[in-house]
Amino acid sequence: LGLWLIGARGGVAVTAIAGIIAQRLGLADGTALVSELPQFAHLPLVKWDDIVIGGHEIRSAPLADELERLHRESRVLSPQLVAACRPELEKIDAEIRPGTLWNVGPKITELADFHPPRNPQEQLPRDMIKRLQADLTDFQTRHKLDSVVVLNVASTEPLPNPALWPATWAEAEASLGRPECPLPASSLYAIAALELGLPFVNFTPSLGALPAGIDELARLRNTCHAGRDGKTGETLMKSVLAPMFAARNLKVMSWVGHNIFGNLDGKVLDDPANKQAKIQSKDRLITEILGYAPQTLISIEHIESLGDWKTAWDHIHFQGFLGTPMTLQFTWQGCDSILAAPLALDLVRFVSLAKNRGETGALPWLASFFKSPQGDPPAKFADQFRALESWARTLS
Ligand code: NAD
Repeated sequence: LGLWLIGARGGVAVTAIAGIIAQRLGLADGTALVSELPQFAHLPLVKWDDIVIGGHEIRSAPLADELERLHRESRVLSPQLVAACRPELEKIDAEIRPGTLWNVGPKITELADFHPPRNPQEQLPRDMIKRLQADLTDFQTRHKLDSVVVLNVASTEPLPNPALWPATWAEAEASLGRPECPLPASSLYAIAALELGLPFVNFTPSLGALPAGIDELARLRNTCHAGRDGKTGETLMKSVLAPMFAARNLKVMSWVGHNIFGNLDGKVLDDPANKQAKIQSKDRLITEILGYAPQTLISIEHIESLGDWKTAWDHIHFQGFLGTPMTLQFTWQGCDSILAAPLALDLVRFVSLAKNRGETGALPWLASFFKSPQGDPPAKFADQFRALESWARTLS
């Protein structure tokens, strides 16, 4: 299987690559990998040794340096693992191609130092998609891969106005030939993959394959997609705790979440346009689960010294019997990439199996992995996880 990472030199991507290498070398057990749970043991999931890695990027920093930096600044991986990864990372560097910056906004554009050779023919999104597809096809052919899963772990883009999202594939396709095409890079990557019949996973809050017109493309090409935005920390807690308040008929009056962290993702989210996409993705859940809208506030602040370590402090003010107000507070201190990477790998394994089984369109049984799951699944974590288990049972 090919794993094609969009944002291949980022924190989640390099940690996922280190995770694959650690599994291959027996340097780590299956802790935090959902796909290693006993209820999925019977599934013919791809083996770690059978994954070939490549990707698109806009920065040129070598992968080994990025992993080293993560280790140095955030003290997350053992020096033994970092050293063991170096030779493999050098090989993967040769498989990384320049991506596209179409409609990514100024904050992401300013990170870029890895560009495709200047090509006057490449003006419109359709031309860019052709180049991205040529990279994917070349990768698949050279390595004789049956399939490739395209995983978007690139920086969060500003979301375009929903009124401009294409409702049909015909509309999306026509817009690719126009300079005013509103779709962002994440959607161009999704289209590039799906048109080739390859599955696409969107681990970010960016638009990706969310518009109905792009979901239609997936169905037309008999392939599948999953998204959006990995549910790794604070939102995971929300989707577990909000059902508890609902089940005990406790009235949540307000839910405030403050997030501080210091990695590159946080730096990009410091821009209000990029931050808005993340906040929207984090905020919709509580109202959906409770069935009413308490006052909510979410803040995301970049505090450089914290590196990859994120602290979320949530303050939940609720009303009990006889109108008595009470408070639940929690702090979640997690290492962002270490939380995200195993879920990204689980998604690659499950989605590749779904593709082999001929599943098409959005995959709602993967909702437990996402903050804003596509395909109209239930909002509560327990229901979402049951859907994953039921899907697995149908394969026994
Ligand atoms: P990061 O900033 O470390 O990595 C993003 C990478 O994407 C960078 O290397 C950047 O150069 C690259 N990139 C940006 N735009 C690109 C483009 N158009 N084409 C190709 N590459 C591009 O961020 P990260 O911490 O690895 O997170 C990756 C994404 O996953 C973010 O969107 C983040 O919001 C999302 N996410 C992360 C977590 C988590 O870490 N816990 C949870 C949920 C979602």
